[in-house]
Order: sequence, then C-alpha cells, then structure tokens
Amino acid sequence: MSLVIYDECINCDVCEPECPNGAISQGEDIYVIDPALCTECIGHHDTPQCVEVCPVECIEKDPKHPEDHETLYQKYLRLTQ
Ligand code: SF4
Ligand code: SF4
Repeated sequence: MSLVIYDECINCDVCEPECPNGAISQGEDIYVIDPALCTECIGHHDTPQCVEVCPVECIEKDPKHPEDHETLYQKYLRLTQ
C-alpha cells in the first residue's frame, strides 16, 4: 500500500527529496504523498526512505490504498520504464 502523512507533520522538508518516485509534495497544510506514485520504495530501496528520515514518525501505511508487494513492484516497473 502507499504511505500516508499524518497531521503531526512539521513541514521539515526532509522527506521530499528522498523519494525516488517524486511522490511527496507540499500540500495545503502539510506534505502529502501521491498514492499513484508511492511504491513503498520497492524496487529502489529496502525500506521506505521517507519513513527513515521523518523526525516525528508521522508517515504510515495507508489503509485506504491496500496493495501487495507484487502490485507495488509492477507500479515501480511502470514508473521507471
Ligand atoms: Fe516515496 Fe518511498 Fe516514501 Fe513512497 S515510501 S512516498 S516511494 S519515499
Ligand atoms: Fe513532514 Fe515528516 Fe516529511 Fe518532515 S519528514 S515534511 S515531518 S512528513
């Protein structure tokens, strides 16, 4: 599943440049993740890079966008072809 940023986000800007898919952008109030672009970093990294760098741990799996590993890998292939 893609990840979602919760409103504990302090707009520190560190996650945006770490995303290999350009899925993170500044939203109206806090940073947001485009579920069409987030692959949980599958194909690029072993762990979600935004989660690794977030200082307030406000990024979690989004239950509204359930996707298994294979689906995320196919998304990665589509995004990088
Ligand atoms: Fe980007 Fe990876 Fe975070 Fe998804 S998990 S938003 S692909 S850095
Ligand atoms: Fe918000 Fe965390 Fe991204 Fe910083 S790293 S902008 S706190 S989601």
